[in-house]
Amino acid sequence: MYELVVTSQFAAAHNLRNYGGKCESLHGHNWRVEVFVRADALGKGGMVLDFRILREEIEKVLEALDHQYLNDLPSFRQEEPSSENIARYIYDALDEQLRPYGVRPHKVTAWESEGAGASYLGGER
Ligand SMILES: [Zn+2]
Repeated sequence: MYELVVTSQFAAAHNLRNYGGKCESLHGHNWRVEVFVRADALGKGGMVLDFRILREEIEKVLEALDHQYLNDLPSFRQEEPSSENIARYIYDALDEQLRPYGVRPHKVTAWESEGAGASYLGGER
């Protein structure tokens, strides 16, 4: 099994509704995002997927989040824009976008601070 990891980041604001703590107030994070992609076998050029392509697809997804107030985005109007849900949002978007390349994400981790991150792993395939 091979695994690629690409890290990127975006800055955004959010507030968690009905949470009952400091995070109910508007505040921001510089989220660091790690995307893991796995494959049993290598494709062209002895690679799982060209890093350049993987990075481009990740940047397209993060572009929609960067410098946004996440609570205003359609995906987070009902659902809390927690790091857990952000990780799943990125996972689902990438799962769609990477389909033409024949690979799927394995895990996405959204780090909201140096020491705290949330991951989403896809279900059974
Ligand atoms: Zn927060």
